[in-house]
Amino acid sequence: DDLSRMSSATTDVTSRIQQLSASVINKIAAGEVIERPASVVKELLENSVDALSTRIEVDIEAGGAELIRLTDDGEGIHPDDVMLAVTSHATSKIRTADDLFEVQTMGFRGEALASIAEVSKFRLRTRRAEALTGVELQVDGGATEGPKPCGCPAGTQIEVRQLFFNTPVRRKFLKTTSTEFGHISEQFTRIALANPNLHLVLRHNGRVVHELPATHQLIDRLRLFFGSELADKLIWVESDDRSLQHALGEAYRGLLMVGRYPITFLFLEVEPSQVDVNVHPTKSEVRFRDSQILYRTLLSTLRRQFLGTNLDSELSVAPEEKPEATEETRKQHQLELVNWAKRQVPGADSARTDSTGAGGDESAAGGTVERPVHPLDREERELHGDAAALLDVSPPSAGPSSGQQTAESDPGPFVLGEPANIEEGSDAGGDATAVPQTLRAMQIHDCYLVVDTGDGLTVIDQHALHERIMYERLRRRVLDGTVEVQPLLIPVTVEMTAQDAAALLDHEEVLRELGLQVESFGGTTIALRANPTLLRRADPARLLRDVADWLESRGSKLSRRDLIDHLLHMMSCKAAIKAGQRLQPEEIDALLEQRHLCDDHHHCPHGRPTALTLTRAELDRQFGRLG
Ligand code: ADP
Ligand code: MG
Repeated sequence: DDLSRMSSATTDVTSRIQQLSASVINKIAAGEVIERPASVVKELLENSVDALSTRIEVDIEAGGAELIRLTDDGEGIHPDDVMLAVTSHATSKIRTADDLFEVQTMGFRGEALASIAEVSKFRLRTRRAEALTGVELQVDGGATEGPKPCGCPAGTQIEVRQLFFNTPVRRKFLKTTSTEFGHISEQFTRIALANPNLHLVLRHNGRVVHELPATHQLIDRLRLFFGSELADKLIWVESDDRSLQHALGEAYRGLLMVGRYPITFLFLEVEPSQVDVNVHPTKSEVRFRDSQILYRTLLSTLRRQFLGTNLDSELSVAPEEKPEATEETRKQHQLELVNWAKRQVPGADSARTDSTGAGGDESAAGGTVERPVHPLDREERELHGDAAALLDVSPPSAGPSSGQQTAESDPGPFVLGEPANIEEGSDAGGDATAVPQTLRAMQIHDCYLVVDTGDGLTVIDQHALHERIMYERLRRRVLDGTVEVQPLLIPVTVEMTAQDAAALLDHEEVLRELGLQVESFGGTTIALRANPTLLRRADPARLLRDVADWLESRGSKLSRRDLIDHLLHMMSCKAAIKAGQRLQPEEIDALLEQRHLCDDHHHCPHGRPTALTLTRAELDRQFGRLG
């Protein structure tokens, strides 16, 4: 008796394994694929794209909760296949498991229509071009009716009404109409951007939200969605190499202010075999077979392009702009710069060796990164003097070769008017990037340098520029493992808090790579035994304190690479000449000349601009000299 009672208790359906019904399976699957109306729109749009449509119209009512209707002019569905279309795991897009690794379509799981039909009032009408009549199929929360003949244009129309009507919990979770429509609009936008060759229409409650004519120019679509201001500022980068957010971040390292991010539209064409699309139910992620190659190619392509592009912040004095005028100037300016960059490239950089960087440095792509290089060999210049040494020249009265520093900072190549300065600076006419031979600058407010560039005037932030120069130099040295170190005869000792001392000692190795040799000096005192030569201007005790402070608060959370980069920023900031420092003419000249040895002299390492340019054209315009 007891036994049978127990057994009947355990026979309770809750604890035995059962095969789920197709309907439940589909509802579970639907939960995965169809999260909200926008998911339906995404799946239906993808199907229409896969069906080789040229025109797709999307009609939405009440944020998609009442109606989602897609009408396309694609190839349609064969009448015999209509039932299969709404059956789960039925697809026309792959056949064998091997096909999974060569997917060329947006769909392949055969789940979307089945899932949608399970949780809505669904109607499909389709006609292939060669068929005389169309076929209609209705599915009401999973219950099929049809198929039956109907009249309809060639292509496919799918209506989804009352989404989630039979899964009330889901329906309750729908957000406001405008939020849901916002998501729909986003999905629509994604498809639209990726397929500029499609004519697309989106309507909400009968009102046209987007009507996008087909175009061959990607930029036209971008302009429609994001406006001309953004579209015109985009830097067009193209690469045929076989090869994502992070690479972009890297490419922009030091070019953008903290907290700002580049706006990017990446159109990536890869062999289907190089990408695994079967890692996420809605393909919101894909996996690349060799993401490293892709990453490096992207990074080096971007870097190369940026280096040949004018990133100077242009001054605009006028409150209102005549767009055409500035546009023209800007384009011309850019063209000149790009041409200049091209002239600098040929072969000049072949000596650049791969760095030791732990992968991911932009030069890692087989040393093939081209960059504009100053005609004078850069390393050689570096041997002869660095900005710090040069700017040390100065005690007020002294000429270019004064005092204590001479042994190390032979000012040779930097003497004013040195003919090797610039290759044919004259042929370029308005070439704003090359330093005109008789470049003259004026320091104002002990802070800014005003330069006549031949094509206007440029105001340079002396600290920001010097910081950039120091940063690049130090960075290159660190990556090459050739930081010049100056041992200190008498170590500088700094007393600090236990945490700060520990933070420094914890990072002893990284610091050593940067040329800072620290060691414990008993208790919480730290001794600095050597200093990077480039940093000899900085106050070592303060530097050490600041570094410790920073390491203590932030250091442990960062990757090694970011750590080094941040420290480089910090150190170059400290080593650079300050705002408020009066400069001698030769110091100004040296600084300006170094400007053109930088990969990016347009921005300080924190991404602030180092210079603002007021073009001749803009001046003329301001003074009413142009029509
Ligand atoms: P999948 O797209 O993964 O194959 P779906 O459930 O989205 O799965 O669609 C099932 C099948 O229905 C597709 O493989 C395709 O053959 C057909 N189909 C769906 N939508 C359309 C459409 N708009 N035009 C032509 N065929 C379609
Ligand atoms: Mg699909």
